[in-house]
Formats: sequence, structure tokens, C-alpha cells
Amino acid sequence: MLSFTFQNPTKILFGEGMIARLGEQTRPYGTTVLLVYGSGSIKKSGLYDQVIEQLKSIHARVVELSGIEPNPRLTSVHKGIELCRSEKVDLILAVGGGSVIDAAKAIAAGALYEGDVWDFCIQKAVIQQALPIGTVLTLAATGSEMNGNAVISNWEAQQKRAFGSQHTYPRFSILDPTLTYSVPRNQTVNGIVDIMSHVFEQYFSLTPDTPLQERLCESILLTLIENAKIALEQPNNYEARANIMWCGTMALNGGLISVGMQNDWSSHGIEHEISAIYDIPHGAGLSIVFPNWMKYVYKERIERFTQFAQRVWGIKRDSLSDEELALAGIDATRAFFTSIGAESRLADFNINNDQLDHMAKEAVLFGPIGSFKKLEQTDVQKILEACL
Ligand code: NAP
Ligand code: FE
Repeated sequence: MLSFTFQNPTKILFGEGMIARLGEQTRPYGTTVLLVYGSGSIKKSGLYDQVIEQLKSIHARVVELSGIEPNPRLTSVHKGIELCRSEKVDLILAVGGGSVIDAAKAIAAGALYEGDVWDFCIQKAVIQQALPIGTVLTLAATGSEMNGNAVISNWEAQQKRAFGSQHTYPRFSILDPTLTYSVPRNQTVNGIVDIMSHVFEQYFSLTPDTPLQERLCESILLTLIENAKIALEQPNNYEARANIMWCGTMALNGGLISVGMQNDWSSHGIEHEISAIYDIPHGAGLSIVFPNWMKYVYKERIERFTQFAQRVWGIKRDSLSDEELALAGIDATRAFFTSIGAESRLADFNINNDQLDHMAKEAVLFGPIGSFKKLEQTDVQKILEACL
């Protein structure tokens, strides 16, 4: 195990009806709130009215920024920064999924920075401060409700880039599983794949002697596998939605499950290049990329893959060789994704090989990616070809 520091400042309020605590949580940060949300799901579900009622109860002045896109755009972030400055915003309240929360983080950091917020995404500047953020989560997927990361798309430049900072952790996040009952089937699937992928990025590591971290990862995967089909068959099943939601928060919250381990993150890097150009859902892109990444790298540490096959998918060793067992675990991953309705090929989105060279080049713009196996441009190209 490697040495580590771990600090996660986000307060979580988890459970049905927790929205009733929103006013009380917001009050300490001031009076002017920038309410950030997406294209309208919160109005349809009635959540918007509940949020406004809570903010009214503390006499907050509410400024609104709606229309945050899935794969949030830099242009929307710029609008939010303008509002923070002109309206002297005290707290940014994100109500939605990862896209809304990520946009809120970029707005929070950009509002207190003299240059362009995009500088943080291209590693030209480091975040020194940010406005406080609160969130009401409506979709279990990214973990953004309890981490300092954000992913922003610069549509004009066809780039999708991430930043992470201790300053952009939400101060509080309200997690009410009933708010995810209305998530459409495909977004529920994308969320589950994203959560599993966050675990994979940490679990497939070369760091030795991390038995607890490995079992934490495996327990999240097993819990998701058990609950995925229940939530898809019964969208209003509280326990299934609650377990999936908590898995999402645990999977990516500053590294709790993988402290002391080197992480990989190359599949996320490759997926970002796909959605930067084709604007496909992040989880769908990961479903296509991850099993192909696994097939490309498993020989680097085959014991982790044989362990994965046995402990997560329950595959018996019997007379299988290490190689057969590792590959059976990878096939089981693909089969599970397919069984819940996740995509498996770029062709499912009518994506051909036109931009493969460009995507592979962009993925390694800052140098080779990944740590389980360091990937150069030619490696990324081969993985993308396998995804076609
Ligand atoms: P999302 O893009 O936030 O939301 C997807 C869609 O689901 C939107 O159309 C949204 O509608 C809808 N939706 C959300 N909640 C709903 C509800 N309760 N009922 C009905 N519809 C609902 O999805 P996401 O997967 O959470 O976020 C994806 C983004 O996060 C990507 O850009 C990805 O790269 C990024 N990401 C971030 C992190 C991180 O650590 N920060 C990690 C992984 C990925 P509305 O627009 O109406 O809300
Ligand atoms: Fe992700």
C-alpha cells in the first residue's frame, strides 16, 4: 500500500424527504443563491417547486441558470460565471445529475478567477478558491455529489476535459433515492455502467498489498450487480434505488475505496474523446470502451483479472487456465452490460473510423495515459479500433 492523505469535506443528507433540510443547509452561506439545473426534468417531477419552497422559507434571493446540457458546455459555464459576478451570488445550488453538478463546480471556480475557467481544464491554471456549492442529486452515476471533479465540454474545440480540486467539493449534498424513480431506463443503465467503471479504474491497479481496498471495490460491484435488474424492472423500488445511489457516491468520492493505490483512468480518458466529438452519454461510451480496454491490458497483472472473475462474477476455476479465467471475467462484464441494455459498439451510435486518429492523438495530448498499462497513441488507437 502507498502512503496517502484523505479528506472529504462533503456533508451527506441521505434518505426520503431530505429535501426538507435544504433551507437549513443553505442558510449559513448567505442570501443569494444561483440555482443551476438542466433541461426540465426537475420541473416535471415537482422537485423544482420543492426547492423554491425551501429557498423561500429562508428568504433567499434566487437567481436561475437552467438548460445545462448533458455533457455540460463551456458556454453554459460562462453564463453562470457572469451571473455570479453580476448578482453577487453567495452559494451555487446544483439540482440534477452529474452534468449539472459539474457545471456548478466550474462556475464556482471560474467566478473567483480572473482568467478563463477553461484554463483549469487544460492544466494552464490551478484552482485556488471557489464559491460554495450545494447539491440535490437526481441521478446516481458520477459521484460528483461528493467529489471535487468536473468534466466540461468545449464544443467549438471538440474537447472534453476534467479538473479536480479540494475547493470544488460540495459543502452539502442531498441524496433522496425517490428523486431517481423518474430517471429513464437508459440513463439508469448509463449510471450503473459509469459507477462500475469508476470502480474498475481503481480496482485494476498494479499496487501490491491492498486487500481491503480490493474488497471495497468488489463489494460495490456485487451490490450494483444485485440491484441493477431490480431497479430496471421496478423503477420505484426504494431499496434498489437507494443501494445504487450510495454505490455511486462511494465509488468516486475522493478515493475512499482506493486510498494507497495507483489508479488508472485511461478508459475515462478515451471515453471523453468519443463524447467530445459525438456527444454520446458518458456511461454508454464507457460500456463500449471498458471491456475492450480490459482485453488489451489484462496480461499486465493477470491475477487481478482472475480474482475479478472469481469474486465478482462467481466463475469457478475448475480446469481453466489463468488466461481462460481472466477472459471469462471480461466476457461476463460485457454480457452483464448487454443484459441491462448498454451499448457494446461505436457502430451502435453510427460512429465509424473517421475520427479515430484524432481521438487517439487527443487522448495522449499531455503524455501517455493509464497506470495499469501506460497507453501511447498507438495503444489508444488499437483499443478504439476494437470498439468499432
Ligand atoms: P446527466 O448528463 O447529468 O443527465 C442525463 C440526463 O438525465 C439529462 O437529460 C437529465 O435531464 C436526466 N435526468 C437527470 N435526473 C433525472 C431524473 N431524476 N428524472 C428524469 N431525468 C433525469 O447524467 P450523469 O451521468 O449524471 O452525468 C454525466 C456527466 O458527468 C458527463 O459529462 C460525464 O463526463 C460527467 N462525469 C463526471 C464525473 C465527476 O466525478 N464529476 C464522473 C464521471 C462522469 P435534465 O437535463 O432535465 O436534468
Ligand atoms: Fe465517469
